[in-house]
Amino acid sequence: MHGYVQRVLGADDLSLADDASVDRYVAKQVQTAHHPSGTAAMSADPGSGVVDSTWRVFGTEGLRMADASIIPSSVRASTNLTCMIIGERVARLLAGTARKESVVERV
Ligand SMILES: Cc1cc2nc3c(=O)[nH]c(=O)nc-3n(C[C@H](O)[C@H](O)[C@H](O)COP(=O)(O)OP(=O)(O)OC[C@H]3O[C@@H](n4cnc5c(N)ncnc54)[C@H](O)[C@@H]3O)c2cc1C
Repeated sequence: MHGYVQRVLGADDLSLADDASVDRYVAKQVQTAHHPSGTAAMSADPGSGVVDSTWRVFGTEGLRMADASIIPSSVRASTNLTCMIIGERVARLLAGTARKESVVERV
């Protein structure tokens, strides 16, 4: 295990000298990676969302949002890919080449 931690995590002998050193090493090295989404959800209802199905921000004019924040509920897939699709769809909408369908109705 000692060798594995050194090889894979790059911990030196000093970091693994005793339990207290390991605790310090772990506290310093461990981090989380989050995939935040849905903080400005797309919805048909201004009361429960921030953007409509054409990415317009409710209560504003000329403002659209197209990023992970508009995802209505947590996706069971790559958020990066989902964001790329959101971007592609908004680009088509703005270019006038999108099909006339509501994303929310299809979800
Ligand atoms: C460490 C890490 C690992 C990840 N690994 C994966 C993975 O393996 N697979 C996966 O699917 N997803 C992964 N993700 C998640 C994925 O990267 C995000 O879900 C996705 O990039 C979100 O896209 P976004 O457009 O919402 O935001 P972002 O990609 O964060 O884009 C926001 C953009 O807005 C710009 N910006 C911010 N403020 C301003 C401002 N005031 N003016 C102008 N521009 C501004 C920023 O510079 C940035 O370019 C990972 C995320 C992290 C942090």
